[in-house]
Amino acid sequence: MKIIKSHNDLKLIFDENLLAEIGRIGIEHYPNEFGGFLIGNYSQDFKTLYLNHIILPKKFVGYPYKFDRSIDGLENVFERLFNKKGLYYIGEWHTHPNGSTKYSQTDYNAMVAIAEHKTVSITNPILLILSVTANKLKGYTFYVYDNKKLLTYE
Ligand SMILES: [Zn+2]
Repeated sequence: MKIIKSHNDLKLIFDENLLAEIGRIGIEHYPNEFGGFLIGNYSQDFKTLYLNHIILPKKFVGYPYKFDRSIDGLENVFERLFNKKGLYYIGEWHTHPNGSTKYSQTDYNAMVAIAEHKTVSITNPILLILSVTANKLKGYTFYVYDNKKLLTYE
């Protein structure tokens, strides 16, 4: 089933199975944080964003209160998805084990860096934060970065 989130006139659409899969992967890494890349595409008018894929990092560091991923070794994966399916990087996801879905200052700074990065073509990257326990996805929040702010998709 499709889930639709919106912020003003912006829509975000994804399948609940994909969200469940992301949650499952996050729980596997409990009690450490874990995350990866969100992949999708925009509608022609850029008002609707389709999240339909994730890519997991090959290199990362995950601790209970810290997660850092690298894009190393994934260049071909991104290129293939773009060439074959027209899908591209749209943002980031990571877990907060035993935590809330609220973003931290570090999370905010990372999104600013991504949006201002020269090689990233997306000006409004999204951030998905999942609250997980040892065996359960407790909640999740999607944010969209816009003009130095992280806004919540309701
Ligand atoms: Zn975080």
